[in-house]
Amino acid sequence: MEVEDTTKRYIYSDTELDRAEGEAIESLKAHSQQPMPDPDKWLEEEIKRNILLTTVDWALNWARRSSLWPVIAFPACCAFELMATAASRFDISRFGMEVMRASPRQADLMITAGTLTWKMAPQIRRIYDQMAEPKWVIAMGACAISGGIFTGSYAVVPGYNRIIPVDVYVPGCPPRPEALLHGIKMLRDKIAKRSLLKEVR
Ligand code: SF4
Repeated sequence: MEVEDTTKRYIYSDTELDRAEGEAIESLKAHSQQPMPDPDKWLEEEIKRNILLTTVDWALNWARRSSLWPVIAFPACCAFELMATAASRFDISRFGMEVMRASPRQADLMITAGTLTWKMAPQIRRIYDQMAEPKWVIAMGACAISGGIFTGSYAVVPGYNRIIPVDVYVPGCPPRPEALLHGIKMLRDKIAKRSLLKEVR
């Protein structure tokens, strides 16, 4: 008995399939004579406009010097000049410093605006110790630098640098806001020269 070969049963004949395939290929060839635009071509222009090369040191120092947050610790009359510096006429918000922090843990700058007595010294030292690292100190005014007009008094600390490290000294009794702004700029320059490599060593 003859067995029927079911594999030979096609809907289309071999010739029709060949022709259809040939037509598809010819059509593709006819429409593929020019190369397509490169989908990544836009990248070159975008990269030119958006890539900025710098160092980790520069980026870190830029972030730190642009967001100095002063802690509230102003024991005497220089504080009024500091308040004037923060107010609209001088405006330290241009340095990202306008929010004075009530908590030392949220601050990295102490502006020592005022006479410091020995009785107050442990509290100032404690506030400094609780501030976030890295931290800086600006000694504002003659009293903060050397005890000022109270030098020699049994009750007055002859300079904040007896109890905490000072980065920048701003002389005057009291210093004008312009002088404090100059001191802040000096501190920013100092921060800009820091190196992460030296810090981790
Ligand atoms: S330097 Fe002059 S203004 Fe400043 S705290 Fe001393 S006495 Fe007051």
